[in-house]
Amino acid sequence: MFRAWGAVTALLFTVTSITAADKPNIIVILADDLGYADVGYHGCRDIPTPHIDALAKGGTYFTNGYVSGPYCSPTRAGLLTGRYQTRFGHEFNPTSANAGLPRSELTLAQHLKSAGYATGLVGKWHLGSTEQQHPQQRGFDEFFGFLGGAHSYFPQKNNSETILRGHKPAGETEYLTDALAREAVAFVEKYKKQPFFLYLAFNAVHTPMQATEERLKKFASIADEQRRIYAAMTMAMDEAIGQLRAKLKAEKLDEKTLIFFFSDNGGPTMKGTTINASSNAPLRGSKRTTLEGGIRVPFIVHWPGKIPAGRKYDGLVIQLDIVPTALAAAGVPLKPEWKIDGVNWLPYLTGEKTGSPHETLYWRFGSQMAIRQGDWKLVVYDLAAEGGRGMSPPRLYNLAHDIGEETDLFSQQPDKARQLQAAWDEWNKANVAPLWGGGKK
Ligand code: CA
Repeated sequence: MFRAWGAVTALLFTVTSITAADKPNIIVILADDLGYADVGYHGCRDIPTPHIDALAKGGTYFTNGYVSGPYCSPTRAGLLTGRYQTRFGHEFNPTSANAGLPRSELTLAQHLKSAGYATGLVGKWHLGSTEQQHPQQRGFDEFFGFLGGAHSYFPQKNNSETILRGHKPAGETEYLTDALAREAVAFVEKYKKQPFFLYLAFNAVHTPMQATEERLKKFASIADEQRRIYAAMTMAMDEAIGQLRAKLKAEKLDEKTLIFFFSDNGGPTMKGTTINASSNAPLRGSKRTTLEGGIRVPFIVHWPGKIPAGRKYDGLVIQLDIVPTALAAAGVPLKPEWKIDGVNWLPYLTGEKTGSPHETLYWRFGSQMAIRQGDWKLVVYDLAAEGGRGMSPPRLYNLAHDIGEETDLFSQQPDKARQLQAAWDEWNKANVAPLWGGGKK
């Protein structure tokens, strides 16, 4: 009894030490299938992304920013729970109507809702489509978007029925990325007087390849048709981010808002994926692989006055860190029973702590695996990435000298490979079998 009281008192103290007026708004902006090379601040030349670049310039951008899944739904499961999705069987994209984020898991929206935040999802859900898996059953007050993994951008047959507001067809008629921009701005307008959490999950730049004529005209100089459409789709997403930022500035909320931006996986560039003419250069591999091209993504965190502006940060970070970072900013203490794998970035970004939030990161995606420890990476990947079949043997790379994973050091450094394999095996003990989908591990 005494212990319980102590815990409650400590909790109250910590939570009340950040008042509602001090709680920052939190926005997670998620791009879908965006290539590592396809943002201006990474050197992209044929597609301007001024608003994404402005986030990087005003915030901290990561050179070693990762996602825990090389695929849409697993990354989202990790994002919203702060846990490696293989801990609870969400290893693959849902394969049936009943598959979705297990109810055993708590989401960032649930945590922030409990802390007094207004919560909203605008965009793609992809964590289950039954009533029990609906975003509004998983902590979101508001939902505008679609439940599945992909959606057409233009109103076509049935589309007006699958874009939902809450549970009902929204009758949407606008180009979808523009509609998501409109809804994100409207969400800020509605909740601007209280702390809010907005999860703006674009389906751009996932297939189908569809863009507006007006934007396509601006990329007439791009000869490749698919790349031209991709550029116009990227531009729409960038403009949407610009509209959201403009609204925050107009309401004087920019400095009161913590923004995360990243892509849910690398660009799909290999056969068997949703190829969209993206580029992951200088990384090798594609969406659906555990090569760097599948898991290392454009990644930015932005909070004026709280997080350094225009800083390139080289520490190891992953999207699992967003839950503990956002909750720290909101003054919500983590509970041990949540079993969060992510790490709060704030002390690292402010310089209070030195070193990297993670010494080691891990991946499991069916028969593919990877572990990164410092500069070293051991990986088993889908040989489709190089036009082959089946899985590669374990390969060892030193990313400090070989970001493109070209020189396999496995036979030269067998002790290092063994050590990494042992660390991965240890981590894997706390994973469970996939609840659906392929793969035997
Ligand atoms: Ca994706």
